[in-house]
Amino acid sequence: MTMGAHDMHGEVMANRSTTEELLLGLASGRIRIVDLTAPLHEKTPIIRLPPERGQPWPFSRELISRYDDKGPHVYWNNIKMCEHTGTHFDAPIHWLTGRDFDDVSQVPVQRLVAPAIVIDLTEEAGNPSFLLERRHVERWCEQHGPLPDGAWLLYRTGWSRHGHDTDEFLNDGVTPGVHPQCAQWLAEQTAILGIGVETVGTDAGQAGSFDPAYPCHWYFHGANKYGLTQLRNLALLPPRGTMLIVAPLPIVGGSGSPARVMAIFESETP
Ligand code: MN
Repeated sequence: MTMGAHDMHGEVMANRSTTEELLLGLASGRIRIVDLTAPLHEKTPIIRLPPERGQPWPFSRELISRYDDKGPHVYWNNIKMCEHTGTHFDAPIHWLTGRDFDDVSQVPVQRLVAPAIVIDLTEEAGNPSFLLERRHVERWCEQHGPLPDGAWLLYRTGWSRHGHDTDEFLNDGVTPGVHPQCAQWLAEQTAILGIGVETVGTDAGQAGSFDPAYPCHWYFHGANKYGLTQLRNLALLPPRGTMLIVAPLPIVGGSGSPARVMAIFESETP
């Protein structure tokens, strides 16, 4: 596909492909790329479960060599972590309701490059037990139009500001989330691809006591949809018009993976 491009004097220039237009936009700064990924290190926050449950591993590393006897020319490490450590992707198979759907290696790459919309509830989520409801999404739609098919719903709460400290980030198990009825509606009645959040998991910290427990996991994965967690920099994104590139590792049989998440969008002021 080609489009007629115009130079700064309005003259039609040689036809460029859409890909060339994108690259020119990136080079000129008219199109921006923002990293939504939290840095990954030994103190990256990770979910805490009741002690009788299995526990996820935090990120850790062991030096192989660093320009020394073990490897005079090479610096590298072995690493160890949970599939759900740091900014990560939840595959449908992560939950009982999605057990017959894709593992993380089976998710089509065409679904990992997708539009994204941002719903800003930073003010409401000043209350850490705040839950997203259907009316908040409908209010967004009144202002910005219908939810685009196949788009990520990025739920901005401002919670990433606590991401430097695990205790503060987990807040004794009380963090903003999604009301069960809203999770069911989004998963089953809308065409969104999945939900992305700033918190340690897609569900509220207190969602173990909801009915059903962990409703985002229950309904989204049961509908073959995805989750994204511990996102940062959502404040930089427009409400709609972002393209998201989500890059989990193709762990065969994996329930999820740490992921690099990049947002591409047109800047308002070039
Ligand atoms: Mn997860």
